[in-house]
Amino acid sequence: MISEARPSVVVLGGGYAGFTLAKSLDDVADVTLVDPSDTFMHNVASWRTLVEPEWLDRIFLPFDGLLRHGRFVRDQAVAVDGRRVTLASGRRLEPDYLVLATGSSYPFPAKSDVWDAEKTRARMLDAHDALRGARRVLVVGAGPSGLELAGEIKAFFPDKHVTIADIGADVMPGPFDQALRDELRAQVHGLGIELKLGSPLKALPEAAPATLSPISITTEAGDELTADIWFRCFGVEPRTGYLTGALAEARDARGYVRVDEYLRAGGVDRVYAIGDIADADRDTVGSANAQATLVAANIRGEITGSPERTAYEKIPPMVIVPLGPEGGAGQLPGQGVFGAEQASGIKGATLFADVYAEMFNVPAGSTRK
Ligand SMILES: Cc1cc2nc3c(=O)[nH]c(=O)nc-3n(C[C@H](O)[C@H](O)[C@H](O)COP(=O)(O)OP(=O)(O)OC[C@H]3O[C@@H](n4cnc5c(N)ncnc54)[C@H](O)[C@@H]3O)c2cc1C
Repeated sequence: MISEARPSVVVLGGGYAGFTLAKSLDDVADVTLVDPSDTFMHNVASWRTLVEPEWLDRIFLPFDGLLRHGRFVRDQAVAVDGRRVTLASGRRLEPDYLVLATGSSYPFPAKSDVWDAEKTRARMLDAHDALRGARRVLVVGAGPSGLELAGEIKAFFPDKHVTIADIGADVMPGPFDQALRDELRAQVHGLGIELKLGSPLKALPEAAPATLSPISITTEAGDELTADIWFRCFGVEPRTGYLTGALAEARDARGYVRVDEYLRAGGVDRVYAIGDIADADRDTVGSANAQATLVAANIRGEITGSPERTAYEKIPPMVIVPLGPEGGAGQLPGQGVFGAEQASGIKGATLFADVYAEMFNVPAGSTRK
């Protein structure tokens, strides 16, 4: 039975989706936010930290300042069956509402699989040192992440030789206007970045990404690519391995949780999946935010007795790809495709770091208390 006074909401995962939802319901519900890390990592700015490590002081935002009424629990979900949650510590939770927001993994250093901000900082500094020592850089993946990384490297280290390789024939797969690809390719050429598109690599480099090591690989088309360091800019994988029972059954072949129009996970009552783990939309902060906002509003409605429920609709294509603080291009609803000045003004210069700092009640300019 749902508690009438202040129903309990457990949110698993404090990424973009989870922290937004937890914060949104903090005033009407008894919210518990669970994450194995001590801080939210604003990974939208990860590549900037690689070229300018002072940014490491801005991307780790401690969870303990997020909620006014609810609590943050540093722990990890290891089994979830319906609304029954088992944490790594052995603690068990069975809230009135459960929100799965455990996101996705992505190769280091864009995201980290070490649940400790200080250890992640140290590894990222090592990656920065390795990059500094490299003359030639290979970026595998010509999506937004790979383009952005290549642009950052060229903006901060113009003398380094940077190659982007991708199996696709063009940059930026996805539902975007061709004009966006054309603009980005033109800027990439202007920065002197070499594009090797349209042919798979025979094999990925054996060296670990983001470490200094001689690399020589060939494409199926016969091109030889050499570098001193490489970065893997593809490979989003939803983190759903802890689900059991009906929720495990609800996963699709790639591991995403199937949700209905209200983002209920696998049809289980009062269990929702939002953000990168859900199959509702593309894996972006924009959709994570939209899903968190919608589920929070629907749960709030149930708690406060409002009969209104809103169904989720995919968000329109929107993206901004900075190529360094002053370059890049984007596409937004109602604005179409735009170039460097607007991309830099909206995103490239600040990467929204201060916006996120404010959400976590941390003074702008630093995430260290
Ligand atoms: C380099 C890079 C740049 C990007 N830039 C952009 C951008 O500019 N714009 C954009 O829209 N998208 C961008 N993205 C995509 C964006 O980062 C993701 O879509 C976003 O992180 C999804 O948020 P999320 O909350 O669903 O998951 P995540 O951000 O992955 O957060 C999941 C959280 O769950 C926690 N967790 C994991 N397992 C467990 C568990 N078992 N129990 C409890 N907690 C757990 C993790 O510690 C983490 O805090 C970028 C991605 C990368 C890699």
